[in-house]
Amino acid sequence: MTPQPREEVMCIAAYVGGESTVAGANRVLKLSSNEGAFGPPPTAQAAYAQAAAEIHRYPDGGSNELRRAIGIRFGLDPARIVCGTGSDELIQHLCHIYGGRGTDILMSRHGFIMYEIAGTYAGSRVQKVPERDLTADVDAMLAAVSPATRVVFLANPNNPTGSMLPQDEVTRLRRGLPSEVLLVLDAAYAEYVERLDYDPGVALVDAGENTVMLRTFSKIYGLGGLRVGWAYAPAGVVDALNRVRGVFNINRGAQAAAVAALAEPGWVERCRTHNTLWRERLGQALRDCGIKVWPSEGNFVLADFTTAAAATAADAHLRTRGIIVRGMAAYDLPHCLRITVGTAEECTLVAEALAALMAGTNTRG
Ligand SMILES: *Cc1c(COP(=O)(O)O)cnc(C)c1O
Repeated sequence: MTPQPREEVMCIAAYVGGESTVAGANRVLKLSSNEGAFGPPPTAQAAYAQAAAEIHRYPDGGSNELRRAIGIRFGLDPARIVCGTGSDELIQHLCHIYGGRGTDILMSRHGFIMYEIAGTYAGSRVQKVPERDLTADVDAMLAAVSPATRVVFLANPNNPTGSMLPQDEVTRLRRGLPSEVLLVLDAAYAEYVERLDYDPGVALVDAGENTVMLRTFSKIYGLGGLRVGWAYAPAGVVDALNRVRGVFNINRGAQAAAVAALAEPGWVERCRTHNTLWRERLGQALRDCGIKVWPSEGNFVLADFTTAAAATAADAHLRTRGIIVRGMAAYDLPHCLRITVGTAEECTLVAEALAALMAGTNTRG
């Protein structure tokens, strides 16, 4: 006999991150992981470098300075904030705290795959609720609730579809859920949203004891490599998370860099403005060459090639040019590719490469 993992562990398909190399290509455009287009904020890089002299010291286990800085920046009470090793860590803990064998966790059909991995690991049954036009369907979510339901995850905007529920729909979801069901609003892409009917979740967290908002430094703040996320949550959820999270979960360099990133002047505005402009240009360029592009509120677009074969061919073509995007088979969207909005040059190159492919395809009939 060898040691046997719990049954549910072997049901999990390991997460496959965006690739970063292409055999034979010396210059690679990595548009596969929704990382910020402009790299890390310069002050965050400097703060990280400066922290090097102190790395023999354990970090502050409470991430106090970071929580204070987040509180100031977002107008929130630091006592209601918990930092995680990426929001991934917090997703995992929420599943284990509130889920487990005999419970259900709900997510929308093409929701962020970490919910499925973490929920299954916790022992819950993860139910994927049908969407409408690749958008979470509040009525279907509410209809799927059973006495076993403990947690509902909603990425808003959603990765990989880019779709968003307006605030009144999220509020309707919360109102329709039993009070003992935890609603987790994952607002990883909140900073990119320009729509006025959007709220990342603060109002609903404040309105009760049963809603959590998750945020991350991995996207607009450009610190994916350091793994920093945070939750804004009711006191009871904060207390539970603090009992089980990694004691020193945010390392010293990451805390310093995240604090500095929040203080980088104009960073978020500059990134958002660039993203809105190039998300539109990239989307239009793809539509111009005959590719369907789903509306997106994030820093990526979902390009729909209609068939899995066409998407696979497009992916292969991009790779020959050293461009890496994300295949969507794991999300049950094998006919789609998710393309991160990169720099102006990167967006132009990926659009040109796809235009060349589509022109060739069209002339060949
Ligand atoms: C990228 C992403 C996150 C962030 O994960 P981290 O662990 O903080 O890097 C969370 N949720 C969604 C939907 C994402 O796309």
